[in-house]
Order: sequence, then C-alpha cells, then structure tokens
Amino acid sequence: MTPKESVTRLICPLTSSSVEKMREDIALAASSGAEAVELRLDYLDCSPTKDQLKCLIDSAEVDVIATNRVKSEGGRFEGDENQRLEILNLSAELEADFVDVEFRAKAEELPDADIIHSYHDFEGIPQDLEEITADIDASRGDINKIIFTATGPEDALTALDIVRQCKKPTIALAMGEAGVISRILAKKFGAFGTFAALAGGAESAPGQPTLDEFRNLYRWDSINLSTEVFGIIGCPVAHSMSPAIHNAAFDAAEIDGVYVPLLIQLGTENFNRFMDAVLARPWLDWRGLSVTIPHKENALAYVGSNNCDELSRKIGAINTISIDKDGKLGGFNTDYAGAIDALCAAMDIDREQLAGKSVAVLGAGGAARAIVAALSYYGAETTIYNRTVSRGEKLADEFGCRCSGLDKLDKLDAEILINCTSLGMHPNIRDCPLEKIPPSIKVVFDTIYNPIETRLLWLAKQAGCLCVSGLDMFVNQAVGQFEIWTKTRAPANAMRKVVIERLKQS
Ligand code: NAP
Repeated sequence: MTPKESVTRLICPLTSSSVEKMREDIALAASSGAEAVELRLDYLDCSPTKDQLKCLIDSAEVDVIATNRVKSEGGRFEGDENQRLEILNLSAELEADFVDVEFRAKAEELPDADIIHSYHDFEGIPQDLEEITADIDASRGDINKIIFTATGPEDALTALDIVRQCKKPTIALAMGEAGVISRILAKKFGAFGTFAALAGGAESAPGQPTLDEFRNLYRWDSINLSTEVFGIIGCPVAHSMSPAIHNAAFDAAEIDGVYVPLLIQLGTENFNRFMDAVLARPWLDWRGLSVTIPHKENALAYVGSNNCDELSRKIGAINTISIDKDGKLGGFNTDYAGAIDALCAAMDIDREQLAGKSVAVLGAGGAARAIVAALSYYGAETTIYNRTVSRGEKLADEFGCRCSGLDKLDKLDAEILINCTSLGMHPNIRDCPLEKIPPSIKVVFDTIYNPIETRLLWLAKQAGCLCVSGLDMFVNQAVGQFEIWTKTRAPANAMRKVVIERLKQS
C-alpha cells in the first residue's frame, strides 16, 4: 500500500472520554492544521456502538487512524481482547483510513485495513531495537510505528535513523522532553507522520508539542530535506525563549532552518554523548547550537579552546557552537559581546573607549564572569561587589579587578553600574540591589530582562542616568548567534519583538 500523500502528516491524537466531544475535536483538529486524527477509542468512557463509530469516522475531513490500546501497551482499554479487536475490525469495516495494531498481535487478528504496526517501550530503548525494527519492517503491516523513551536527545537521533533505514513508511519517535527533536525533525526525513497534541495538556504521550507549536513555533510548513538544524542545549530548557526568537528570525530572513530545544542532563558525559551523535550523522545538516546552563564550560571543552576566540577562552565558557559542512566546530561567546555592545551602543562609544572607565559590577556568577572578562580585556577599571565575597575575590583575582562585599555599595564611586545579580528578577520584582543610585553613577545597566524595566532601572531613570536593559543584551546575544551561523544580517527588530511578546505573556 502507498500512503495517500508522501508528506509527513501532523497527526492529532484525540483522547476525549465522550463520543460527542471526540467528534467536536475531530473538526477542531482539522481546522487547527492536523492532517490526520488518531481516534483513541480506548479513552472513551464506553466502547462506541457501530453507529457512533461510523459517525466519528464519517465526520472527519482528514485521514482517520483508529487505535484501541490496552493498558500494558500504554492505552486505557479495559475490556477483553476479543472486544478490543472487534472495535478495530469494525473501524476497518467503516473505512477508517488506518488501523493501529500492536506488532505483537497475531497475523490472523489483523483487521482488513491499512495497518499501522506499532511497538512501544515506555521505559527506554529496547536492547534488541534493530531486530524489532527489521521484523516490523518485514511484517504484513503497511506502516511501521516504533516508539521508545529518550534518556537524552541522542536517542531521538536513533529514531531518525530508523525513519531513514526502513523500507516502509515509518513513524519512529522518542518520547519524553529529551526526545522532542524526533517529533519535529520527522518531516525533514519524510516520516509517515508525527503526533501533535490538540492543546497543552491534551498530549497522548510525553514530549508531544501542540499543533500550534508545530506550525507557529517550529516552522512545520517550511521543514524539508535540506532544512538546516539548530538548537539550544540546556537543563532546564523547556521555557527557553531561544526557539521562538531564532525560528522567528529564520522566518523573517527566509532562512531554510529550524531551531529545536535539547534537554541534556547535567554532566560532561551527557553533553559529549549528544555532540558525538550529531557529528556521526552529517546528514542531519546540524549547523549550530546555543548552549546554556549547565553546559557552557562543557561546550568549550568539547569544541577545544583552539577553536574558540581569545575572550571565550579567558571566560572559560561558550554559549554558541557552529558546525560547518565538514563537521569542523567553532566556539563563541555572544553573551559578553551582547552585553558590551549593548552598553557601548547606549553610551555611543566603541568597545576600545571602555578603557579607563570605572565600572562597578554587582554579582560574580556566570553573567558577571563574561562581562568582567570583557571589561578587563578592553581596559575598564572594574570593581566587583558580591554577596559571597570569596567568590567575588576569586573572579577579581582572575581578571585583575578589585572586589568588595555588597554591604560596601554605599561607598561606591564609579561611572558605570552593571547589575549581574538576580536581585529584581521576575517574580521578585520589588527587590533591588541598591536603595538609591550613588551620585557618581552616570550609566546603569541591569542584565535582568524580565522585567524589562527593573526597580533598579526605574531608580536610575529617576536619577537621570543613562539606562541599559538586559533585553538589549539578550537580543544582542541571539543576533550574534544568528549572524555566526547564517553569515547574514540578523532581523534584530523581529527578534526583539518576539522577546517582548513572550515577556508580556509571562
Ligand atoms: P548565577 O551564576 O547564579 O549568579 C547569580 C549572582 O547573583 C551571584 O553573584 C549571586 O551571589 C547573586 N545573588 C543571587 N541572589 C542574591 C541575593 N538574594 N542577594 C545578593 N546577591 C544575590 O546567575 P547568572 O547566570 O550569572 O545570572 C545572573 C543574572 O544575570 C540573572 O538575573 C539573569 O537574568 C541575568 N542574565 C541576563 C542575560 C541576558 O541576556 N540579559 C544573560 C545571562 C544572565 P552569590 O555569589 O553570593 O551567590
């Protein structure tokens, strides 16, 4: 059998408990961009009658997959096996386009329909995955469906291997947040389909993006075999704004790319395992990675300091990796560049003109480290103020700065103040590292971007200071990444707009 279309279907699983609601959801799914619906008949409170099933199948304007799974296979059907098969046979008789049957089912139990032969592992990846895949691909089913659970995003790449290797149309997906790229990149490799939830909370499996996310966040309509792939590595990564910013930038600049989230647990070995898996698969067309907490140091170590710029080496961390067509890696730190350029643009000076300027940096964490390294590189006179003085001293020693405790802030005598602590960040927006702005301060830069105007910036505005928001730094670092990867000018305004819109929703 040949699928009706060769394009990868966005399949919306429908899990309502009543026939009436399921019928409404069929229409809603189709109008929301689903190209097929999966009727999860096992989620219905009562088994459907023949008339009800006919009504459901006939009402669909898109392809219908009938599924009726038992608990041990991840479903909810509680009747006996004969009843379960009876419903699937009835679905076939009523001309559901496809019927999903577990691979373990006996050949004589298969309904007379186009069969999706499915295999699920809810714990991890089966040791005999290759054998299972070969057996399903050689079976009498028409479409292969192989679903397992991802520990890291490299497992999602195994799912893409399966899609590429199988002779029959195939759905291969890695469940869980770490496996989400198998769902998004399914289209690049011509999978039979991928599952998209009708709305948040309506997922039939962990890690399933919604129809809206597929279409409006992950550029579903644009993905094709030559689409280049980018992503953000982090833990946690679910609430990162980077996919929204970079995918919107690809849209605005008409770049054939897609940007995906990559949940990699803490640990160098986890980071390295994913990178090795990407580099072993040049056909992924993976061209760039953003890296956030806790992997920025791992990223520098993996890329190799020889492949990173001098300041990134001094900072000891990178937030950007480029991968060229031959697999050669480049490492960059657009955090420091984003911050310093935001400051210089506001002051209308070049980076070199920071030389000799007196700067007070509050904080000694990751953001402070990148900014202090750059300030010191460009010759600014920097004093670090940190709650944990020993941490501040360590940073100051490394970059030749002075250090003091936050309790000495009232004696501060600098021209520029940069807040790199999290004091004042959403939701604690009333917090502020200072009660009033010292008279020597002319410029205040708060690296916090949520809220855009922190209490510190509000105070600075009242005091007549030049104000620089963390929003500028945040947009700049993304703009820097985009330009490194695409070698084209970034649509900065479109990127800024996305961040502001997202912040309004938070
Ligand atoms: P981090 O490594 O965890 O460092 C946090 C810093 O804040 C440390 O210096 C810490 O002091 C200090 N701090 C935390 N709570 C405090 C409190 N209650 N009182 C006084 N000091 C406190 O975090 P990070 O990655 O550097 O991020 C720091 C800030 O930078 C965040 O607000 C973040 O929004 C901002 N940031 C902005 C961007 C951007 O693109 N705009 C990018 C990265 C970060 P101790 O050393 O004493 O713990």
